[in-house]
Amino acid sequence: SEDQFKKVISHAKEYGYIFASSEIYDGLSAVYDYAQNGAELKKNIREYWWRSMVYMHQNIVGIDSAILMHPTTWKASGHIDAFNDPLIDNKDSKKRYRADVLIEDHAEKIYQKAQKEIEKARGRFGESFDEEQYKTTNPRVVKYLEDHKNMLSRMAKSLENEDLADVKALIEELEIADPDTGSKNWTEVRQFNLMFGTKLGASAENAMDLYLRPETAQGIFVNFLNVQKSGRMKIPFGIAQTGKAFRNEIVARQFIFRMREFEQMEMQFFVRPGEELKWYEYWKETRLKWHLSLGMGEENYRFHDHEKLAHYANAAADIEFNFPFGFKELEGIHSRTDFDLKAHEKHSGKKLQFFDPEMNESYVPYVVETSIGLDRMFLAVLSNSLQDETLEDGSTRTVLKIPAILAPVKAAVLPLIKRDGLPEIAQKIIEDLQWDYNVTYDEKDAVGRRYRRQDAAGTPFCITVDHQTIEDNTVTIRHRDSMEQERIAISEISEKMRESISF
Ligand code: ATP
Repeated sequence: SEDQFKKVISHAKEYGYIFASSEIYDGLSAVYDYAQNGAELKKNIREYWWRSMVYMHQNIVGIDSAILMHPTTWKASGHIDAFNDPLIDNKDSKKRYRADVLIEDHAEKIYQKAQKEIEKARGRFGESFDEEQYKTTNPRVVKYLEDHKNMLSRMAKSLENEDLADVKALIEELEIADPDTGSKNWTEVRQFNLMFGTKLGASAENAMDLYLRPETAQGIFVNFLNVQKSGRMKIPFGIAQTGKAFRNEIVARQFIFRMREFEQMEMQFFVRPGEELKWYEYWKETRLKWHLSLGMGEENYRFHDHEKLAHYANAAADIEFNFPFGFKELEGIHSRTDFDLKAHEKHSGKKLQFFDPEMNESYVPYVVETSIGLDRMFLAVLSNSLQDETLEDGSTRTVLKIPAILAPVKAAVLPLIKRDGLPEIAQKIIEDLQWDYNVTYDEKDAVGRRYRRQDAAGTPFCITVDHQTIEDNTVTIRHRDSMEQERIAISEISEKMRESISF
């Protein structure tokens, strides 16, 4: 909900996850900085992705290509001609929106109405409830679901035909209002190119016009043959990379969901022509499993198969996540055909082909890509983890249940009091753990308050040193989610943590 989203944003600031960029100058729109905890969470998500994509697949390798690329790259990729979003201004408020996003948000609300009816019915019918049957027979639900589908497909068709007047007409028919002001007084819809331009060179006359890359994928395509040859890769194989991308987005109030400078984690998988749809299904399934492995709730994910395909694709789907503002794209899986490599062949004059020894022929491979926004994944983790709990004794706590493997700080070591040698023992424990884990020390306030502070910051373990520790070398280890406490030997701490934290 809106409230939950606001809570996430303020919690992210208060606990050192995300700050507005250049905040002392009132910030820069849709640009954000990752703070001490945010930088760790982001790094851990990146590493979780990298390990599962690169280390767990013997035929995938990772690279790190430059943000600045030869400008012809963007001619070949189609970004100069076709990387546009439909923009609409509100005449009254002068606020600027993406027309397709306004329609999608409206459609999502209708979809949620259907979901609500379904949940109510489930409550009424109990065990005997047949959701699939209900969806096709209850007239109200049928209507909502049909409306939802029709709105999206009409929008997709209009965008595909570049019929922007029809996109505007649809906004009017659906009576969509400015989400900030309620006004329905719109301008025409027009196309807006999203690439950021910059210049290379010292003098104005011979400066070269460049772009900040709007996606990391092209750095992989232009290096396809270099990697294939130097790594002696055989098809099928993949190239992965993570890195910054830049888009001059038309934004309104989306926090880190839609940023102008963001980070992508992409993998391009090169396959035999004709086998791309098999691999497309494989990667859809594999990527969904990756998400589910984090335990953030199966019900929070859904696939959305694209009706409107980008100019380079022959199949595409999104993995959508249930953000506080509804289900939205988190990751895309695209069957990109041989569009990119062929286009680079054409513009560079260089062959980008693979000799397949089994088939005894050369061909331009087809590509299936998985593309996820690191910042969007961050937002998914953060918003899913933030919970207010009422405890058995009636008190409440705010807890950030970040999957332990991703948590910024893995353990806080706490001396029960500030004397009797307890701080020194705590420091010694930290010196041992810090080789393997990011751990922190806290001695201020009563131990109960320190637990609450660590709960809210997302730390999965608190290790408390007390007077018994001096006698028998044991500590209390407290688990963030269950709040259970165990007495274990100091020598067992590391292994205990490893059970839930190791990659
Ligand atoms: P959208 O329709 O939301 O603008 P897209 O379909 O243009 O996204 P892709 O070009 O497929 O997105 O990019 C792949 C992934 O990169 C997206 O699934 C998303 O997670 C992430 N991403 C794209 N644009 C942004 C952005 N402006 N800020 C943060 N993440 C982004």
